[in-house]
Amino acid sequence: MSRIFSGIQPSGELHIGNYLGAVQNWVRLQEGPDRSFFCVVDLHALTGNYDPADLRQRRHDMALTLLAAGLDPDRCTLFFQSAVRAHAELGWVFNTVTPLGDLERQVQFKDKSARQESVITGLLTYPVLQAADILLYRADRVPVGEDQVQHLELSRDIARKWNAKFRPEDSPYFPEPQALLTPVRRLMGLDGQAKMSKSLGNTIGLLEAPDDIWAKLRPAVTDPARVRKTDPGNPDVCNIYSMHKAFSPEPVQAEVRENCSGAKWGCIDCKKTLFTHMEETLVPIRTRAAQLQEKPGTVREIMVQGAERARAVAERTIGEVYDMMGLAH
Ligand code: SF4
Repeated sequence: MSRIFSGIQPSGELHIGNYLGAVQNWVRLQEGPDRSFFCVVDLHALTGNYDPADLRQRRHDMALTLLAAGLDPDRCTLFFQSAVRAHAELGWVFNTVTPLGDLERQVQFKDKSARQESVITGLLTYPVLQAADILLYRADRVPVGEDQVQHLELSRDIARKWNAKFRPEDSPYFPEPQALLTPVRRLMGLDGQAKMSKSLGNTIGLLEAPDDIWAKLRPAVTDPARVRKTDPGNPDVCNIYSMHKAFSPEPVQAEVRENCSGAKWGCIDCKKTLFTHMEETLVPIRTRAAQLQEKPGTVREIMVQGAERARAVAERTIGEVYDMMGLAH
């Protein structure tokens, strides 16, 4: 059976950057609870510095926003990684077939380890656990951003190595998962300097109140050439126009282009139009979040049920894997 798997870090409430960059696509890719698996990867989160109480809250907030954003437990399986212990077990199994050099070559490992005095092993073996996340569900399609393509290539190598060692050549057990590249909507932060990121404080939260969103949009950086209203601008260098492309219908995008390059309106007019169209996307999301918040325990219940469904598939896989490796019980 063809399956989709993707994971997201428990970074708390989603912001519009990670909504547009990943989760909006997940919502479209829900093909049924036995085919689409989406996971809050809380075991991966342990490789950074964290406070346990804060992590608890961030896990909950991420689950709540994913549901509010449109993940539907009737159309996908959503769960916390740590609730399905076979992730860690298969991660160990894959450690036994993964060459050290392959992990040391990963660009993300090189970047992150270069900035640390003492590098923990979990940072090195992170992509092995990622391979286990995907292959535990024998998923053959993985929606990812371009920054994860190298890790996915490693997952394919691991699947190939494990199959070569424990399966006849004509009967592989694990598929070699392919990337479903997310249509790139890389939003810059409101400062226009760097990618939208919570740690840089340049985001708009998916559940933020309208007044707070407007207070952030109003001073947001635009085309620096537009000093006065009469200066023509270039929408292609303006982050506000990128947001129009994500939130506004095409005729409005054309209107923005014309009014900007022809200096027919000011940036505040342009931002007001953007705000109106953002609200069309965000109001239903905030409404769903409020409904979930009204009934405490609902998010937890959905995540527990998701983990049960995920465990049913995962335990079968790890049982078969152990069996083929000579560890039958
Ligand atoms: Fe950007 Fe709109 Fe201002 Fe043009 S008019 S520079 S697209 S905010």
